[in-house]
Amino acid sequence: MADLSNLRNAFASGITKPLAWRREQLGLLQQLLRDHETELMNALQQDLGKPAAESWSTELGFLHRDIRHTLKNLSRWSKPQRVKQPLLAWPGRSEIRPEPLGVVLILGAWNYPLQLLLSPLVAAIAAGNCAVIKPSELAPATAALLEKLIPDYLSGSCVRIVTGDAEVASKLLEQRFDHIFYTGGSRVGKIVMRAASEFLTPVTLELGGKSPAVVLADADIKVAAKRVAWGKWLNAGQTCIAPDYLLVEDAVYEKFVEALQSAIAELYGDQVADNPDFGKIINAQHWQRLEGYLSDGKVAYGGQRDAARRFFAPTLLTDCSNESAVMQEEIFGPILPIVKIRNLAEGIDLIQARPKPLALYGFTTSDKAIEQLEQVAAGSQCFNDTLMFMLNHNLPFGGVGNSGMGRYHGYFGFTTFSHMKAVMKRSSWPDPDFRYPPYTGFKDKL
Ligand code: NAD
Repeated sequence: MADLSNLRNAFASGITKPLAWRREQLGLLQQLLRDHETELMNALQQDLGKPAAESWSTELGFLHRDIRHTLKNLSRWSKPQRVKQPLLAWPGRSEIRPEPLGVVLILGAWNYPLQLLLSPLVAAIAAGNCAVIKPSELAPATAALLEKLIPDYLSGSCVRIVTGDAEVASKLLEQRFDHIFYTGGSRVGKIVMRAASEFLTPVTLELGGKSPAVVLADADIKVAAKRVAWGKWLNAGQTCIAPDYLLVEDAVYEKFVEALQSAIAELYGDQVADNPDFGKIINAQHWQRLEGYLSDGKVAYGGQRDAARRFFAPTLLTDCSNESAVMQEEIFGPILPIVKIRNLAEGIDLIQARPKPLALYGFTTSDKAIEQLEQVAAGSQCFNDTLMFMLNHNLPFGGVGNSGMGRYHGYFGFTTFSHMKAVMKRSSWPDPDFRYPPYTGFKDKL
């Protein structure tokens, strides 16, 4: 178990405050990623069958860009921001000073086991905190490798990695942290929030949910199909912002389903099981859970699977009832139900009848339709593409309602791990007495 008193002492010593320390640690993290790129990719391959290209674009390359962006902007983000001083408080000046929170806890999920653990760490270090990080036990190869590497690179008195299962996580949650950043499902999210409430610790919950993709008749069907296919079947569908279900306008329903089938064939060929560009399901339990969804509709494409290899082909499901499990639970795997809608209004009603999603996708060439979809609550939205908004570190990333609370990436991560302290400085002179009691003649002064 991490000895928090050591981390607390390190934080209290002020070691993490200078930007030079933060820069040094971020540089060392970058070095770790560079020095052990092949081993890290091998671990991701072992845990999730991740193709090297995906490991690069969504994990290692993502983190390199994240660190570079942070290093480039750190001095600007951490400078006190002067704000206007109200006339009543003249003379004087006001500013917002970002202040590190202290010792923070980061609990990662298994589907992007590097990115989801280390990107919050980048933000925590940038903001000048000490951190305990716990990778998900469901991606054991990556967790074991990180457990070995992190102490070799990062300051042991300021950053600790703890590995283990739910029991270890529960023990960690019994301690007082200054912030808890959790990525994972909402069931555990509630446990985390409950534990945090004991110490009034603020939490960021990066959760999941059912992210819809709406395809309207005026969309570029071929491009839409290819981009849905890419966003859905990357990491074998185990992506929190993957399109979870499709709402396709009646007029192009058949055409779109055909285009999607062609896109899958184009991306993965007809021997998907042997295609190294397609990942595997994280474990047998999740594989079985996914298999259970097949009976909720008609398999319009795919459905091939092999429990021994944890292989599950890209699968399209049609004719699913709204009440079925596949339409009620987050799928988090390579199955995609397709629902026919009469028009956009019906699609919006269906989306709004459910909890607020983490992401919402719309495929259309109509500005008016985009404007209507923009009115729908969601963690993030992306039009005429999937997932790509993740690449923009200038955008916040986080859910709303059931899909989470709080945000990170770039400056938003920096502020999540900072207290934005209000500071007003005044001089002792002048000191007019109109605000002090006795309040006699108050009305005359108005
Ligand atoms: P998981 O099982 O890996 O759990 C996440 C973390 O919670 C792990 O570190 C784990 O040890 C810990 N944990 C598990 N049980 C616990 C308990 N009883 N008490 C305390 N801690 C516990 O992840 P998961 O929940 O299977 O992840 C899948 C979910 O995560 C999906 O819903 C997905 O949408 C969501 N997700 C969200 C994001 C995002 O950025 N919003 C990213 C990835 C995944």
